[in-house]
Amino acid sequence: MAALDEKLQDIYTEVLQRNPGESEFHQAVREVLDSLGPVVAKHPQYVDAAVIRRLCEPERQIIFRVPWVDDSGTVQINRGFRVEFNSALGPYKGGLRFHPSVYLGIVKFLGFEQIFKNSLTGMPIGGGKGGSDFDPKGRSDAEVMRFCQSFMTELYRHIGEYTDVPAGDIGVGGREIGYLFGQYKRITNRYESGVLTGKGLSWGGSQVRPEATGYGTVFFTEQILDRRGDSFEGKRVVISGSGNVAIYAVEKVHQLGGTVVACSDSSGYIVDDKGIDLELLKEIKHDRRGRIHEYPDIARGSAYFVDSGSIWAVPCDIALPCATQNELNGSDARLLIENGCAIVAEGANMPCTPEAFRLLIDAGVTFAPGKAANAGGVATSALEMQQNASRDSWTFEHTEQRLETIMRGIHDRCLETAEEYGTPGDYVAGANIAGFTQVADAMLALGIV
Ligand code: NDP
Repeated sequence: MAALDEKLQDIYTEVLQRNPGESEFHQAVREVLDSLGPVVAKHPQYVDAAVIRRLCEPERQIIFRVPWVDDSGTVQINRGFRVEFNSALGPYKGGLRFHPSVYLGIVKFLGFEQIFKNSLTGMPIGGGKGGSDFDPKGRSDAEVMRFCQSFMTELYRHIGEYTDVPAGDIGVGGREIGYLFGQYKRITNRYESGVLTGKGLSWGGSQVRPEATGYGTVFFTEQILDRRGDSFEGKRVVISGSGNVAIYAVEKVHQLGGTVVACSDSSGYIVDDKGIDLELLKEIKHDRRGRIHEYPDIARGSAYFVDSGSIWAVPCDIALPCATQNELNGSDARLLIENGCAIVAEGANMPCTPEAFRLLIDAGVTFAPGKAANAGGVATSALEMQQNASRDSWTFEHTEQRLETIMRGIHDRCLETAEEYGTPGDYVAGANIAGFTQVADAMLALGIV
């Protein structure tokens, strides 16, 4: 990692001191600061008015107890979080994650990333994130409902369509958003559709929202291919994860003529050289909430399951990490390079370690960071908010067209900004700088708040 310019190093040192033990948050901040050298050289006001220091400190951090009763009658206690990071561009916007690994550092890293991602979409949304260390795996529907109701019984007082608009993330899909929205409606006696996104179609949701993050990542990758006169046609693609983002990334790659040959869950990965059977994958992982190792038992042919090792050892032209943070490390990056992978685009948030993405870039692999490549999810959430505000609902085709246009816009903005700041073709610098400057200018205009 190259040394930071002196003023940025001071800011980073302060972040380390003020947020001890929050390694994912440190990593996310460092990755943005690494891109800002040329920006502060050109615009010293961002440092003078403490814009960057203020950006690194959340506007509000809420931590609360979530008590609930499991099916055996035992009282369970979880911890809930909502970090309202930055509202310079609009109401805080970002998902909720339910996973046992959730602690303040994870929520802060995700909320910090969200500020720049939301800015890149060009839509009027600020950055926030939340969640709980609750593990939905193995819990009954009734337990998940009671947990969600208890979670919302505290969260409701902090959110609202003009204040903070949560959505889903790992462990939070349509089922959880339904229980959360139901409780919000009951407590407030308001049918305030714009308070949550990712809702079901019959109660205020948007077409394409479930598909949006996966589709958007593939649209972004298509733009990279298009620039070199290429397409997904005939490409071998590896996609990690098998949740919301991964499933719809598989769907769009197949629609565009590529073949997804491997995907995973936290217990291992499957390889199916003739192409992942998407309906079977959805049936196992989405409909039944099962495990991916069931796939080869049902799929006919040569599909197999691997319970150790790395999915990134499977040779591919394009890799789309769509599972979780830091899932692709330096040795995984070396495997991808050795096997001739040409593009890595992040569907998940921060799935590549800094060592991994530096190795990839140095080896000439095109690397698209999550805050640009996976912004389609939140962009479509903003489209859901628009439809809610105007009491309208758009067709699938119209919404997908909007998503595709937004992803093309983000792609082009990254490249134009990278060029402007002397790092042509660098999507990491382009995304960080373009995302940053828009928020920073808004913060300057709003004064010291
Ligand atoms: P889901 O909960 O739907 O799916 C997560 C998937 O990742 C599951 O298949 C899970 O497996 C797998 N997984 C988790 N940890 C690991 C691991 N260590 N190794 C391999 N697989 C793992 O979440 P989403 O698909 O919604 O989110 C995935 C990523 O995308 C996250 O980083 C999220 O922040 C990001 N993202 C999501 C957006 C959205 O709209 N949902 C928007 C933008 C980014 P298992 O079933 O075993 O738990």
